Amino acid sequence: MPSREDVYGASIGPGAADTISSRGSSSPSKCKKYVRKFFKHLFSNLGLFGLVVGYVFIGAVVFEYLESKNEIDQRIVIQTKRDECVKELWHITDEDDNEDHDHEKIKSFKFKEIQQNRLRKKLEEKSLHGQYLKRVNNIEHSVPQTFSWLRRGQLKPATEATIVAAQDQALRTRNYEKYILKTKIDDDRCRICQEKSETIDHILSACPQLAKHEYILRHNKICTYVHWCLCKKYNIPGIATRWYEHEPKPVVNNEEVTILYDTQIHTDRTVPANKPDIVIKNLKEKHCTLIDISVPCDKNLISKEAEKKLKYRTLAIEVSKMWNLKTLIVPVIIGALGTIPQTLHNNIKTLEGNISIHKIQDIALCGSANILRKTIY
Ligand SMILES: [Zn+2]
Repeated sequence: MPSREDVYGASIGPGAADTISSRGSSSPSKCKKYVRKFFKHLFSNLGLFGLVVGYVFIGAVVFEYLESKNEIDQRIVIQTKRDECVKELWHITDEDDNEDHDHEKIKSFKFKEIQQNRLRKKLEEKSLHGQYLKRVNNIEHSVPQTFSWLRRGQLKPATEATIVAAQDQALRTRNYEKYILKTKIDDDRCRICQEKSETIDHILSACPQLAKHEYILRHNKICTYVHWCLCKKYNIPGIATRWYEHEPKPVVNNEEVTILYDTQIHTDRTVPANKPDIVIKNLKEKHCTLIDISVPCDKNLISKEAEKKLKYRTLAIEVSKMWNLKTLIVPVIIGALGTIPQTLHNNIKTLEGNISIHKIQDIALCGSANILRKTIY
């Protein structure tokens, strides 16, 4: 076959060859040539770059077209919620009587406080879980200290969980099974005494069978702690380093005081109750203190305190005459679920002796958790 040089009589480049050959080619071959050229440019570096740019541009346009409606809707929802929140905050603070205080509240953005109040209200509205809060609000008590055991974190997690569940009335008592879970059980009487309905309150402070040992154990631990603190205060010799190692003796004394523990006081006249938990006979300062400790159901705190004062009134009169000392009755009352009545502060203050209300609360809560574990679990 003759070469291109032979046909045209001269040496020519590849571009020229194409031009020359296209002059004589037919329409389909022209089409092929343009397609080939198109793909050649398309798959060159420049072509690929153009393709990517085009893809990004088209993708952006399509994405905006598809998502713009959803985006606008979401912004409207957020704006509506924001407006509602501002209105609600304004409304809450506006309810307060003190206008200046309201503005101050808004200025300082006490969101945390507002939110806590809202959560508390929500919890109180619950008929079952809100019972403890409602009950606590009905008595004069120290709110920060009643709930301080949660902040202190001195109790074991399992004990904390048991106490919180008991406060929320969420433990599986027979009463709970019958009336809340609607389980088919014959009756809801206490599994220990078979007398009353088995509720948290019954197990913690009203079961006659548990009163024989379990309640005494819980009560005696608090007595031991208070006795240990008093012995420390009056420098009674031979006292253990830690309160739980302390074993109270019926009578301890020094030149200043005599401390009686769980001991009968013999009086000239018969009295209805003559054995308070602890008696401090202070000969130096000429006064006597009758201390009685109790861990009742949290709703009975105030009545229990009044009951204790009434119970030992006659004894106090007799002791005053007999020993010629000014006599004072000091009840130490704490709720089985840790409620601290306002009066406990003053009573502990009267005793002095570096007695910690927190420690008394921890001992009471540990005792209650043990009773619940032994009974229900
Ligand atoms: Zn019972």
